[in-house]
Amino acid sequence: MNTSSKPTLPSPKAVRFSTTIGKNKPETLVTGRSECPFCHPESLVDIVETDGDIIFLKNKYNVLTDAEQFVLVESRRCDDGIEQYSSEKLHRLFRLALRHFDRMLKNPDYKSVIFFKNHGPLSGGTIRHPHMQIIGFYDIEPETLYEKDNFVPADNPIIQRDGITLSASAFPRLGFGEFTIISDAYPLSEKSIDTLADFIQYVVRFLLELDWRENPSYNLFFYYLQDRRQLALRIMPRHPTSPLFVGYDLRIVPDNIGLLSEKLKKFILENSSRKA
Ligand SMILES: [Zn+2]
Repeated sequence: MNTSSKPTLPSPKAVRFSTTIGKNKPETLVTGRSECPFCHPESLVDIVETDGDIIFLKNKYNVLTDAEQFVLVESRRCDDGIEQYSSEKLHRLFRLALRHFDRMLKNPDYKSVIFFKNHGPLSGGTIRHPHMQIIGFYDIEPETLYEKDNFVPADNPIIQRDGITLSASAFPRLGFGEFTIISDAYPLSEKSIDTLADFIQYVVRFLLELDWRENPSYNLFFYYLQDRRQLALRIMPRHPTSPLFVGYDLRIVPDNIGLLSEKLKKFILENSSRKA
């Protein structure tokens, strides 16, 4: 596929991006200038798997030159979201997503695989319609994708069940309200995946409820920690990025991490008792 000779990149973390493909990409999240492609599932091509209204397909706009990009359309509805799904739908979604993530991790064509979700205008995404992305990189070494201190929990876990632990991040990347979910082992059992999905939904609901903005933004980032054989996940609310980070790579560590963890714990207890 990559017949042209590759220029040397300046760093092991550099990723080549095709601006020719990028400029044709639809955009519905910030300006709303394009029609939503995922609202017209009949026009989608290169579909790998469908399960009800969940569609896993190749990304039509493979902007990353040395990578293969896939999209997971979560729902038929453009205004749907993780916070709204029934348990049944939520579990089905993450079982399918993690099955494809695992399949790609095992594919020798890729050196590393990333799996993430953008939500909201400050998330860096371009399409409002709820979806996630899985990308296989031909050249990126897996250990360049995270630092070990990324998954150090602040204090005691907020909740722990079925081999899955949810904590506040001790060393947040961008600053405020970041949470980490980590598995005891990998691969995950179906029960562990369901619990992971439940924890994600709790945190997303909590963050959206806490946010004062009309259109809150967040990201989910999944990491396969090869050396520890664990799956890790960061949930990050997105605000305008701190110039200390952008300019100097300095990390903000807020002084309310403990307080926020207590709040989330209470929120989960109240919501799970409401459910029962
Ligand atoms: Zn849509």
